[in-house]
Amino acid sequence: MGEYEEQRRRLVELLVEEGALFDEYAQRAMLRVPREEFVPEHLRHMAYIDEPLPIGHGQTISAPSMVAIMTSHLKARPGHKVLEIGTGSGYQAAILAEIVGDEGHVYTVERIPELAETARRNLERTGYAKRVTVIVGDGSQGYREKAPYDRIIVTASSPDIPRPLIEQLKPGGILVIPVGDRYMQRLYIVYKDKHGSLRIEKGVYCLFVPLIGKYGWTA
Ligand code: SAM
Repeated sequence: MGEYEEQRRRLVELLVEEGALFDEYAQRAMLRVPREEFVPEHLRHMAYIDEPLPIGHGQTISAPSMVAIMTSHLKARPGHKVLEIGTGSGYQAAILAEIVGDEGHVYTVERIPELAETARRNLERTGYAKRVTVIVGDGSQGYREKAPYDRIIVTASSPDIPRPLIEQLKPGGILVIPVGDRYMQRLYIVYKDKHGSLRIEKGVYCLFVPLIGKYGWTA
């Protein structure tokens, strides 16, 4: 077993033990996706420390425990069409691509073109590019072109749940999003039932970079 593979296995074990990784599909995906391929080269040795890391342009790749918690709540499954807002490094998109398989697809929206380009390259190198479409734009408006989605995940913080995302979620779908002010947020897990009614469960407190756009923060 390679050095990173061993570190990955140990981190996943720890996340399961801590209760952060409580969905078996999420667990399998985190065991398979090489996080070291999604962090800047000079930070590779820190890929399996449970910390967010800088990826340039003032943005971060989220801590593995946060990816574990969000992916576990999201309950993505093979064949699902998933929308991610905030591509960043492409790591979370790769985790989702690993879960949805060849029958599903991941659409991921990033507002900073340079990050979208790096994410595309990371996804290409790790073999996930076919299952992921990276779009440059304002994800607070969702991505109407391919709506509705089985699952939607937002990896930047929002003052409220953007209305277009609720509209673009299928009945029976789940949306995971950090909601709060600039300095503290709470993970909202939004369930849309088959009649279109919403139920919101509040999860852990967290701190994300802001979702900047029409239905997020202004700057
Ligand atoms: N999921 C990413 C990963 O796996 O590396 C980490 C995402 S990072 C915490 C948040 C990202 O959201 C940043 O790359 C930021 O540029 C992006 N972002 C902020 N506002 C956005 C918007 N309105 N639409 C799309 N992306 C946005």
